Amino acid sequence: MIKKYQPIIICSLAVLLLFVFIEGIKFISISSTENKQESEQILDNHPEDEQDATDQIEAINDSDKDEEDEDEDEDATSVEEDGKFVYLTFDDGPSSVTTEILDTLEQFNAKATFFMLEPAMRSYPEAVKRTVEDGHAVALHGVTHQKEKFYHSEQSALDEMKTAQETLLNITGVQSYLIRTPYGSIPYLTDSFRKVLTENGFKIWDWNVDSSDWNLSKDQYVQNVIAQVEKIDKSGGTPIILMHDRGETAHHLSTLLSYLQKHDFQTRIIDENLESYQFNCYDRCYRLDGGN
Ligand SMILES: [Zn+2]
Repeated sequence: MIKKYQPIIICSLAVLLLFVFIEGIKFISISSTENKQESEQILDNHPEDEQDATDQIEAINDSDKDEEDEDEDEDATSVEEDGKFVYLTFDDGPSSVTTEILDTLEQFNAKATFFMLEPAMRSYPEAVKRTVEDGHAVALHGVTHQKEKFYHSEQSALDEMKTAQETLLNITGVQSYLIRTPYGSIPYLTDSFRKVLTENGFKIWDWNVDSSDWNLSKDQYVQNVIAQVEKIDKSGGTPIILMHDRGETAHHLSTLLSYLQKHDFQTRIIDENLESYQFNCYDRCYRLDGGN
């Protein structure tokens, strides 16, 4: 009985094996096509700036430069892409020491952002003009710097920033929408304040490195800043350093700038097109009148 069906069983097994073999080859072929498509998609997903860098390199390759020049240009591009950046910011100025701060920044070819008070701008218009001429960013910090007055209402906060904006425009011809509210946006700047300021085009900037320079003597603030900068750098962030336009900060600024230079940090000014950095409000913001 088994002998009778043996040829049929062998034939069936052979057909089955052939079928499995053909399907196996088909599967391998489809998998390799998919992998190819995936890697093409990855190439297409280059960020815009990386694509720019690629375009630049291609443009260089098209030119008649020799190979050594090409290498140098590629290196320059990669340094720009991989650079470490830091934002230096000075509040409450200008003052009698603004010139000293500007001289030190110039010496290190460093750029900063100045959040200035309106009455101080009127007292030191020449310092404000030079700040612009030197290529720094000029920004607004209000008029009174008194929390009861500035945060009295949405309108009072808006009025202070608009007054400061107009004074800066009159002195320098620059219309700035960059603002830092007195004591930072926490705890007083509630959502309704943020809404009014934002609707009027203002960009609110806080900080992630507090120098406490107003509270520390001599050069102590420098070590305080360096410790925080190192921590942020390790976590892959960009330090935004709060300092003040005051004597001791100015006198010891070169120590901080030497450190930043030695550790390959490049200073950048805050640009209005950047996404602004703000503290998170959560439930820590409150109205001075007791409301929320
Ligand atoms: Zn201030």
